[in-house]
Amino acid sequence: MKRSLPFVVRQAQLMARTDSSLKKFLYESLKKISSFSDEAEKLKWIHSQVDILITQSSNESKCQKGCHHCCYHPIQLSHIEINNIKEKYLISNPDRLKVQKANIDKDDGLNSSLEYKDRACVYLNNTGTCSIYEDRPLICRLTHVQSNPEYCHWENKDRPIEHLPVTKAALLVGAFYMGHSEIDFIPNFL
Ligand code: SF4
Repeated sequence: MKRSLPFVVRQAQLMARTDSSLKKFLYESLKKISSFSDEAEKLKWIHSQVDILITQSSNESKCQKGCHHCCYHPIQLSHIEINNIKEKYLISNPDRLKVQKANIDKDDGLNSSLEYKDRACVYLNNTGTCSIYEDRPLICRLTHVQSNPEYCHWENKDRPIEHLPVTKAALLVGAFYMGHSEIDFIPNFL
């Protein structure tokens, strides 16, 4: 299903409209992405590039090892990412997936009517770690905050979350998504 792009990506695309260096970066990214004939190689490349760009600004990130508040928010990804994950990994919590799938008709994959424990990503381990870390979705890689990490907890959703500006990485993800229009929430793909 075609959904609107994640907020951080749309924001970066908006900035690129008026910033010539970002526009140039977007153009070069699109050119590079279209040069891949192998989807797996393309995904590998985009993962590495996004990680490099994020690392460059990660000293300003307040995200802490062990924190997984953002894993309770709905995660959007493209069909190429989910296919790669499905090929390599089992779902960490099949029972949670059942609950989320049964709920899809009610809230379209957003999990907003679920109890907090059932909102967690189906790839989140009981120990609070990501079971698909190496291949985690692009949106998970982009998510870093400059605000108090506690504000990311669902129960603090009225507190202001300040995202780390990751404009180039988000533009790169947007460029990748342009060729992969099928974007949806994780349970809708499983
Ligand atoms: S894929 Fe991993 S990092 Fe992303 S929400 Fe799920 S558990 Fe968290």
